[in-house]
Amino acid sequence: MGTDATAASPGADIEQLLAIDAAHAWHPYTSTIDRDPVYPVRAAAGCEIELMDGRRLVDGMASWWCAIHGYNHPVLNAAATEQLGRMAHVMFGGLTHAPAVGLVERLVRLTPAPLQHVFLCDSGSVAVEVAMKMALQYQQAAGNTGRVRFLTVRSGYHGDTFDAMSVCDPVNGMHSLFERVLPKQVFAAPPAPRFDAPCTDADIAEVAGLMERHADELAAVILEPVVQGAGGMRFYSPEYLARLRALCDRHGLLLILDEIATGFGRTGKLFACEHAGIAPDILCLGKALTGGYLTGAATLATADVAATISRGEPGAFMHGPTFMGNPLACAIANASIDLLLSRNWQGEVAAIEAGLRAGLAPCRELPGVADVRVLGAIGVVELTEPVPMRAVQQALVERGVWVRPFGRLVYLMPPFIISPEQLAQVCSAVCEVVADLVEGRLTDPPRR
Ligand SMILES: *Cc1c(COP(=O)(O)O)cnc(C)c1O
Repeated sequence: MGTDATAASPGADIEQLLAIDAAHAWHPYTSTIDRDPVYPVRAAAGCEIELMDGRRLVDGMASWWCAIHGYNHPVLNAAATEQLGRMAHVMFGGLTHAPAVGLVERLVRLTPAPLQHVFLCDSGSVAVEVAMKMALQYQQAAGNTGRVRFLTVRSGYHGDTFDAMSVCDPVNGMHSLFERVLPKQVFAAPPAPRFDAPCTDADIAEVAGLMERHADELAAVILEPVVQGAGGMRFYSPEYLARLRALCDRHGLLLILDEIATGFGRTGKLFACEHAGIAPDILCLGKALTGGYLTGAATLATADVAATISRGEPGAFMHGPTFMGNPLACAIANASIDLLLSRNWQGEVAAIEAGLRAGLAPCRELPGVADVRVLGAIGVVELTEPVPMRAVQQALVERGVWVRPFGRLVYLMPPFIISPEQLAQVCSAVCEVVADLVEGRLTDPPRR
């Protein structure tokens, strides 16, 4: 793998990389035997991913919601380089530093007012674990020792660690295999009213009844506000969320909102809970927090939650990741937040919303398409049947776009910096490929 090989034959280099990848690298949600194809990337800049064979793909995924400013951004690069010159990491136990303090100050300032204490953590799943542990410690400290379960809605997604899995959709949540070892939570139907519809008494009746019946054993309600992400890409009425907030207060339950996907402008508000005009007791952030540069997440709590936990046994919140408050991640997060706020991000997201509505509209007419929906910088084409992922992925790459379908969904959440031309290219590629698919011109090879 020396430089000679690179200079002599880039093709051989790609072959070698793919061979080692195939032998040893385990990709997300994949088999090591019946391998999904992977596309080797040389670099990424702006809204483009450059493959090692020279092809350029317009990015429609923001690397799973993260890369809101696109790739290789000079401002984020400068923040990373500057911080590297000082320190990449120091432990957060007993030490503190400007990058972490800057980040908690920004997060408290930007999120709803009651949220006052920030626990920095490693990843979205850990932020959810931390939120659930906070809720349990809160109820224990408040003397409600029987309150140890969680209520959530189906079609949710909260991550892949154990407690996070327990509140994912029990059927399509990718985790049914682990059902027997997961804590048994209380599930309500997914919120029924669509984003622009009111929430009627009937729409809230089931979840209200479950809260009433299980109040004595519930610590908190946890859900994604307004947009359910990987569990089904559903958009629901902010009024539902507002009514849920009131029900939590009535029953003494904490409300945990998971804004790991929706946070930092994706839905057209800085945080999706703003659509409902409510604040949670505990808030989870991740994904776009670091502008897609490094893993990093945060769990925010109200003054009441933090004080109750701190007064209870054992007088501390019992969590502390090794890489908590990583200075490099915090410095980049600060630069990413400042960059977002310095730009007209509302205008960018509104333009993407309009572009997605226009660009995906042709899909609506196709047989086999169940729904086309758009909210903020999120566009979803829902089919009636599962998508043959490999064939669709390949067809999209051949059209010069990077979009990764999942289940019955082909969905887009591009970087906010995507140009109108790039967005039009992504949308028309999706429409063409979906048309080919529903008209029978695309199928995956049979699985071995
Ligand atoms: C991605 C995601 C998570 C998990 O985050 P990881 O960083 O992958 O652990 C949790 N909740 C929501 C809503 C997400 O979209």
